Amino acid sequence: MKRPPILFATANPHKVREIREILGPCFTVLSLLDYGLPGPEESGTTLEENAEIKARYAYERTGIPAVGEDTGLFVRALKWAPGIYSARFSGGGDRENREKLLYLMRGEGDRYAEFRTALVFYDGRRLETFLGVLPGRIATVERGKGGFGYDPLFVPEGHTRTLAEMSPQEKNAISHRRKALMSFLKWLVREIR
Ligand code: IMP
Repeated sequence: MKRPPILFATANPHKVREIREILGPCFTVLSLLDYGLPGPEESGTTLEENAEIKARYAYERTGIPAVGEDTGLFVRALKWAPGIYSARFSGGGDRENREKLLYLMRGEGDRYAEFRTALVFYDGRRLETFLGVLPGRIATVERGKGGFGYDPLFVPEGHTRTLAEMSPQEKNAISHRRKALMSFLKWLVREIR
């Protein structure tokens, strides 16, 4: 059976790889990279708003049913920062973001944090939002070379290794992104029945 195309409104190759690993059997997963489009400006005040901005942007430029995705790391001891500002936390890249997080968390006993992913599906007619949350804690040093972003600092609840110490399959079996993608899939199956 031919897999229908679905466009993910991201230009982040790490995210595209993870989404392909999860949805590849059901869909031909396209991204903004396939269209040479940059990501839109994330001007929303919540993950959901940013995901909607991305979904509308991608659909309006391509006419292909699109999914916008926005993820943030929410740290309780930092009053749930960096949240929607996770990408722009330090003004630098992933490494600088992790360094800033470790610095702010030095000596902190409450290490609870969660990754939250919002997905918004838009096809010009239907607009639907899905969420995925992965609870865990912030490690005291970076560990592991896999994953991306804050993965070397995040130990999921019930685990001892960081997401960056897990194989891609292990991360994708439990991740915030997977949880959001699964509730999207459940909805889609009901829609097309
Ligand atoms: P955005 O969703 O592309 O805006 O990403 C927000 C920030 O969170 C960026 O700094 C990403 O590197 C980081 N990030 C997003 N998803 C993940 C993940 O699955 N693991 C670790 N960091 C992530």
